[in-house]
Amino acid sequence: MQNRVEVSAREGGSPNFSVVVPCFNEEEVVRETHKRLGAALAEIGLACEVIYIDDGSADKTLDILMELQNDDPSMRVVALSRNFGHQVAVTAGLEHCTGDVVGIIDADLQDPPEIFAEMLAEWRKGADVVYAVRAERAGETAFKTWSAKRFYRFINAISDVDIPLDTGDFRLMDRCAVDALLAMPERDRFIRGMVAWVGFKQVPLSYQRAPRFAGETKYPLKRMLRFASDGLLSFSLVPMRFAILTGSAVAGLSFLGILYALFMRIFTSDWVTGWTMLFIAVLFIGGLQLIFLGLIGEYVGRVYGEAKRRPLYFVKRRAGFEKSGRDAADSTADHA
Ligand code: UDP
Ligand code: MG
Repeated sequence: MQNRVEVSAREGGSPNFSVVVPCFNEEEVVRETHKRLGAALAEIGLACEVIYIDDGSADKTLDILMELQNDDPSMRVVALSRNFGHQVAVTAGLEHCTGDVVGIIDADLQDPPEIFAEMLAEWRKGADVVYAVRAERAGETAFKTWSAKRFYRFINAISDVDIPLDTGDFRLMDRCAVDALLAMPERDRFIRGMVAWVGFKQVPLSYQRAPRFAGETKYPLKRMLRFASDGLLSFSLVPMRFAILTGSAVAGLSFLGILYALFMRIFTSDWVTGWTMLFIAVLFIGGLQLIFLGLIGEYVGRVYGEAKRRPLYFVKRRAGFEKSGRDAADSTADHA
């Protein structure tokens, strides 16, 4: 049944288009985002719903969203009970959207919403996922650009998915890809990797990334590192294998050291009397053990997090959902 909807929607029928916008402390930009996104969607001319996820903002973001929602029935707002992070906010949006085709875009206007028209054209030609590739990253530090490049090269080299270089979460997904993504319940969500992993027909689309419209990045270095380690550890066991290899190499070296010490002791008269060698060996091996214990701890900690099976997020408030027939039906089902 799902397939029939897709086919008719792609072949010139009128698909429903949903757009998910995660917002965290974006009071300075949401009005402008809403205006520009609204204009871009009007241009596209499909039946649209825009879902703004307020990811526990501490500023006026939610108030502004509620105010905008009052004047615009196509707009939906989901407010999470606290800050759950960008990737969870996007997931919440995907779970709430009903479109045949779904777009994800940041609230800060770094990704131009006008590109959705081109993405939809690719989708009509048969793409299930159209991901935007940054041709340029204006307004971002050289360090961020450089580190992002290195990171994606590295993760692709050591993992079994191929995450396209220079992509973010700005993309368009057919319902089949959205459903596949939502069927993956993991907690450490690295959406761009997970989308690459689900398969289907994925097509790149190059665009120029603009600087932030206003406000500051919500990904300071610490969060970037956490995000990077999520990506790495949830897609690869290579770091653990690396531990085994390094352990073997060090053990091999120390074996050579033992042979050398025995040789000196038995066949010469000037054997090592100092503690230097001992010290170095103990410290080196001790350090390595701690590093790898920590690494295993990272994996175990993630297993623990998954094992608790907590919900990904809680919703504090929803607005705009009662107006659509489909949602009204859903909510009666909820009550039954
Ligand atoms: N964001 C979010 N929750 C967070 C951090 C960020 O919903 O905990 C949103 C943020 O409002 C923005 C998007 O995720 O719409 C991307 O964040 P940002 O622009 O700060 O990241 P950058 O573009 O600098 O990588
Ligand atoms: Mg941004």
